[in-house]
Amino acid sequence: MMLEATTAIPYGNACDVSIAENARMTTVEFAPDPHGGPEVMWFCLRVRRGPGGRRVPRNLKLVLRNAGNMLGAGKARNIHPVLRGAGGDWTRMEAGKPRTLPDGRMNVSWRLRVPDQSVDIALCYPYGQDEVESLVSQTGEFYESHKIGASQEARPIVRLSNTSGSKRDRRAGLYLLARQHSGETPGSWVLDGFLRHIAAERRKEPLVWAVPLADIDGVEKGDYGKDNFPYDLNRAWGSPPMRHEVLVLQRDIARWRERCRPVLAIDFHAPGLCEQDGMYAFLPKPESSAEAFDKATVWAQLLSRELGKEFSAGEFARIATYASRWETPGFSVFCASLGVCALSIETPYAISADGGLLTRDRYREAGARLALGVLKQLQTSRSNR
Ligand SMILES: [Zn+2]
Repeated sequence: MMLEATTAIPYGNACDVSIAENARMTTVEFAPDPHGGPEVMWFCLRVRRGPGGRRVPRNLKLVLRNAGNMLGAGKARNIHPVLRGAGGDWTRMEAGKPRTLPDGRMNVSWRLRVPDQSVDIALCYPYGQDEVESLVSQTGEFYESHKIGASQEARPIVRLSNTSGSKRDRRAGLYLLARQHSGETPGSWVLDGFLRHIAAERRKEPLVWAVPLADIDGVEKGDYGKDNFPYDLNRAWGSPPMRHEVLVLQRDIARWRERCRPVLAIDFHAPGLCEQDGMYAFLPKPESSAEAFDKATVWAQLLSRELGKEFSAGEFARIATYASRWETPGFSVFCASLGVCALSIETPYAISADGGLLTRDRYREAGARLALGVLKQLQTSRSNR
């Protein structure tokens, strides 16, 4: 075998892999692996020279099998994976070519000009512990990093903070969260940009606590993680909570509330692959808390304005109406029960509101704009007090 495909790389995920080689073309076919969950989306694999094989051929055809099984994946033009050669950096690929098979299934394919030794392909730019460490070091250790507990599989859950504050502190406070669904890396890149903006301003008010990798087990194992068993993290926020990660986060939020005047909590996500109109926010349902809904509506209006037409979907403020597999509450309902206003912000995988492709810099730009919007609003409410 000249070539082999492996998922034994960070965040690896693929199944049903086959490689067909002939004189004219080498074709690598794969599908996303459910990893025990009901939905698929995230994939990440490496194609490399096999034992005794020659270099990876320059012309490679990549086929994503059964793309219609991915969450919201009716439109091939919204799927723009990222690619990197050995030792290189990720770049965004063009949209693939959809092909409907005789029985109606859909595959999507790409023709690649690949580097010599190996090529990695992923649904979107990965974001993990290395990126969190880079954020901390590149912002001059502005953020402290604390282990607030352990995951189900005993990996540390890390929270960043610009200050620990102190009890009965009255400064404004933000609590930020990403990767409750572990494959939703666009949410992480937006949070990264948000935190870098706060750090660049050297702001100790608001007090900012952030958990960048909430489902750290799913992140490390390359799970997509939406509705994953035994319990979706973002449906485990009841009392008592159904996941240990959520118990840890709830205790942390209790400490945060004692050390600030809570003004906003944001949970960063990425939606299904059908979304192509830009970023949007889910608000708490008015029936769960009219007060939380009203406050969230005000925040959504100003954040949408700050994101601008480059990033914000025309319909920015939304109420989740999709069928849930669990009846138990998520993060924003939990926050509302404490009188804390919370938003979930959804950032698409590839296409922005202006039709352009989302890159790491553009995700971060969107995050910086959100942070700027929050800081402006806090400034206004301070001068009105
Ligand atoms: Zn999500």
